[in-house]
Amino acid sequence: MTDKTNLLELDPEGLTTFFSELGEKPYRATQVIKWIYQQGVTDFSRMTNLSKVLREKLTNTARISLPKIVTEQVSEDGTRKWLIRVDRQNCIETVFIPENDRGTLCISSQVGCPLDCDFCATAKQGFSRNLGLHEIIGQVWLANEALGHFRTGERLISNIVLMGMGEPLLNYDNVLSAIRLMLSDHAFGLSRKRVTLSTAGVVPGLKKLARDSDVSLAISLHAAHDELRDKLVPINRSYPIVTLMDAIRIFAEHHEGDTITFEYVMLEDVNDSIEDARKLAKLLQDLPAKVNLIPFNPFPGAEYKRSTLESINRFREILMNAGIITITRKTRGGDIDAACGQLAGQVVTRAHKFQGNQVGNAV
Ligand code: SAH
Repeated sequence: MTDKTNLLELDPEGLTTFFSELGEKPYRATQVIKWIYQQGVTDFSRMTNLSKVLREKLTNTARISLPKIVTEQVSEDGTRKWLIRVDRQNCIETVFIPENDRGTLCISSQVGCPLDCDFCATAKQGFSRNLGLHEIIGQVWLANEALGHFRTGERLISNIVLMGMGEPLLNYDNVLSAIRLMLSDHAFGLSRKRVTLSTAGVVPGLKKLARDSDVSLAISLHAAHDELRDKLVPINRSYPIVTLMDAIRIFAEHHEGDTITFEYVMLEDVNDSIEDARKLAKLLQDLPAKVNLIPFNPFPGAEYKRSTLESINRFREILMNAGIITITRKTRGGDIDAACGQLAGQVVTRAHKFQGNQVGNAV
């Protein structure tokens, strides 16, 4: 069983190669992608437009194995959070956030996270490993199934954000392959504007992404000067703000006309002063930037407090007056710990802190 190829570990190109090695035509890959990602079929015998011989061949050489949903929690605001088992020891979390005009799926890219941001619950869990392609795209598949999409055809997931557990740019190849499947018309068929990769600022990965993909970008900035950012987002010590801004400019040049979102968690008396807002406005002034202010979501043991509504509004005013579109993110799913930065899963830590040299291996 285990030496059979799990087709969920192959992106469209990989599947085409797999079928050619079986002596089959490339369009077979497209047929199978449609069965898996559009119809939700994981049983080869049900793939009725494949010949009987091919179905048997597939049964003998391949499998379609998904991670498993362990629990589902539904918030009073309709947000759903799934705990998903990816191996014997580890679980990740995936969140669905329904709104009037859209449904956003927030997916994880790693088991835990090595970046150790000071205000994030995932960081406190430590880091175990990168997720495989099957585990990343598997979250989208499982959420679609849990929401009834394969039965009803109703599309509840209109947007996908890589804002769950982990740093997507430290798992570059698998994340890019998963994005290809999200965008492929034969698979989930989402528009590139509706798929957002969020990064804390892994500069080599960001420069590569600028060339490789045209998804939307979000940057977890949280501070507009290095002294504070070094503490809040420690990867800033490897890639300080000027270096990050240069990489963002390269991305912007490759994606003319697109807006880049800057996420800024509002921490009381830490990064929410008038002075902070002015610095942020100055930093972003010549970029196609939009700011998302995220009221801090507490978790057990957190040392920070959420900024008051008054200081959030004041901060927003300053940015808006500087001509920067600024939105305060509504906190969703707080009652089930599904809000930004509250995802914890079950992580058996193998390495805790980020080390600069990991980047070289990962991108
Ligand atoms: N590593 C990537 C993907 C995670 S996205 C990144 O950093 O962008 C998760 C978002 O939620 C990030 O912007 C993160 O900084 C923010 N966040 C983390 N902890 C939070 C908390 N306790 N309250 C509010 N937002 C938080």
